Amino acid sequence: MVAPKELIYKALEDGRNKLLEHEAYEFLKAYDLPVPKFGLAVSADEAAELAERIGYPVVLKIVSPDIVHKSDVGGVKVNISSESEVRKWFDTIIQNVRSKAPTAKVAGILVQEMVPQDLEVIVGSTRDPVFGPVVMFGLGGIFVEVLKDVSLRITPITVYDAEEMIREIRAASILEGYRGAPPRDKKAIIDLIIKVGRLMDEVPEVTDIDLNPVMVFPEGRGAKIADARILIKRV
Ligand code: ADP
Ligand code: MG
Repeated sequence: MVAPKELIYKALEDGRNKLLEHEAYEFLKAYDLPVPKFGLAVSADEAAELAERIGYPVVLKIVSPDIVHKSDVGGVKVNISSESEVRKWFDTIIQNVRSKAPTAKVAGILVQEMVPQDLEVIVGSTRDPVFGPVVMFGLGGIFVEVLKDVSLRITPITVYDAEEMIREIRAASILEGYRGAPPRDKKAIIDLIIKVGRLMDEVPEVTDIDLNPVMVFPEGRGAKIADARILIKRV
């Protein structure tokens, strides 16, 4: 495994201000954040091999420094359950991207463990010019995008701060379980919020982290990051 800081220096040397998605997972894994099993494939054969090692079902995603919203260019396929589908979708994704983003450079295709659908939350961070790293928490989808129902804290973040962040969003009761849905693993969210804050404090080259979505499972079963974006700059 590459040392986490090396990933950043290499990306900066390549003239990038963003880690590629597989680099982002490598980096997050090094900081003990819960990432799904993954690997980067540059051929359908490699993708099939990786899928076998990871275990079905898997997700395939385009990896490109030039594409921000992968779904918009047909660059994501979830719930793939056989080798023949992996091969088919490897080619389909490449074709989709060629036609919808013809100038985009392609680094390969990420083969990723399929995370079971569950409650989606978002954990993110940016650097405020005055206050330094600020960590954001919210529920996925319309809660953040439309209702702007988020909580924010400046690092360093204590367990108590993280607990408050979870409690103070307007939709907090959803995490407690509603209409027969089970309560979610709040400890896992607290852990994630604290670790994201710590990472921002320890690695000044990271300017932004966007974990969206993070799937949160029922109490005691943890959480897993399903999409990660990490922006970087030279300091
Ligand atoms: P983008 O945001 O660039 O379009 P994502 O990586 O977020 O692409 O994938 C789109 C959607 O597919 C996610 O919001 C999530 O619902 C689903 N998804 C992505 N990766 C996984 C995964 N590993 N397991 C389960 N669902 C996933
Ligand atoms: Mg996403």
